[in-house]
Amino acid sequence: MQFRDLQRQYEALHPQIDTAMKKVSASGSFIMGRCVEELEERLARYVGVKHCVTCGNGTDALYLALRVWGVGAGDAVFVPDFTFFATAEVVSLVGATPVFVDVDPNTFNLSPVDLEAKIANCSLNPKAVIAVDLFGQPADYHAIRNMVRKNHMLLLEDGAQGFGGSIDGKRACSFGDIATTSFFPAKPLGCYGDGGALFTDNDEWAEMASSLRLHGRGTEKYNNQYIGVNSRLDALQAAILQVKLDAFERFELLSVQNVADKYCHLLKDVVSVPVMPSWVASSWAQYTIRLADAGQRDGLRDALKKSGIPSQVYYPCPLHLLPAFSSLPLSVDACPNAQSLSQTVLSLPIHPYLRDDEVERVAMALKSYIYG
Ligand SMILES: *Cc1c(COP(=O)(O)O)cnc(C)c1O
Repeated sequence: MQFRDLQRQYEALHPQIDTAMKKVSASGSFIMGRCVEELEERLARYVGVKHCVTCGNGTDALYLALRVWGVGAGDAVFVPDFTFFATAEVVSLVGATPVFVDVDPNTFNLSPVDLEAKIANCSLNPKAVIAVDLFGQPADYHAIRNMVRKNHMLLLEDGAQGFGGSIDGKRACSFGDIATTSFFPAKPLGCYGDGGALFTDNDEWAEMASSLRLHGRGTEKYNNQYIGVNSRLDALQAAILQVKLDAFERFELLSVQNVADKYCHLLKDVVSVPVMPSWVASSWAQYTIRLADAGQRDGLRDALKKSGIPSQVYYPCPLHLLPAFSSLPLSVDACPNAQSLSQTVLSLPIHPYLRDDEVERVAMALKSYIYG
């Protein structure tokens, strides 16, 4: 059994993927071009925003958003303490200061209550909030948006894991003033290499992001306007993403929801499973359960491994305790929920091609460990 079975996906989609790749090879056009533009138009339509600007990866997409807004030294950017490193890394990269906000213990997403407290205590210029759609579940945008508006800040949605999720039918990557996603192969919508995108309704921001990803070029190629970066999506990845987006829309999101429903049915009385209100839909980038303590979590992980079942700890360390951020003046007990989750969470295999009998096998192994 694989944690996320990309080979099984290729087996299902390979005639279309191979055809799409051959077409690009024959075209002789490999970087950007019509194929990438078509994908951008389609992604913007799917998400329900005016502009999609693709780039080299999800980290660059976040970086480009902060650059577009001119975020830099003296600015505070509020980020959840429980997320992938890149969410906060980009804040330091542009010279601003990440302020770590605790997460809700049930949704694992940014806590609006702690956000309010952290903004109130902030001695820097509160500039932006990066909310993450962790494990596929959209953050609490209703409350976060209010807080952002009240404090005249900007909202960046890190939808690297959230693409395909929704709140009340409104799709993820449409909630931020700018939103970003990643097409890293293991994400809900992945390509066969690195890729990313940025989404916004704002014409000027979209234009500036388009320029920054191409060395800050102007309307003419060698009339550079800004110090930018080289962060482009290539045509092969765009062609693969077109095929994968077909499958994503036609059946993958539904199948992965079925896997999550089955896990919930089999495990809800055994461990703490993800639950969300009926109006929220996850893209199920991860299926993450909570155990009683670190001992039980680590023991379960070993037991599953012995049965040939892979699992992962996302994330084993809250951001505020990472060596990379040790120069920031942080209190070690600043985010108790994040710290506790890092000790007790475990992510189980999940993807649209996981079979019923495999889900049952995971559940059986888990139960036999818990009930000893
Ligand atoms: C994967 C991920 C990123 C970074 O995406 P890359 O394409 O790997 O650069 C950023 N934020 C979150 C929450 C992620 O999961």
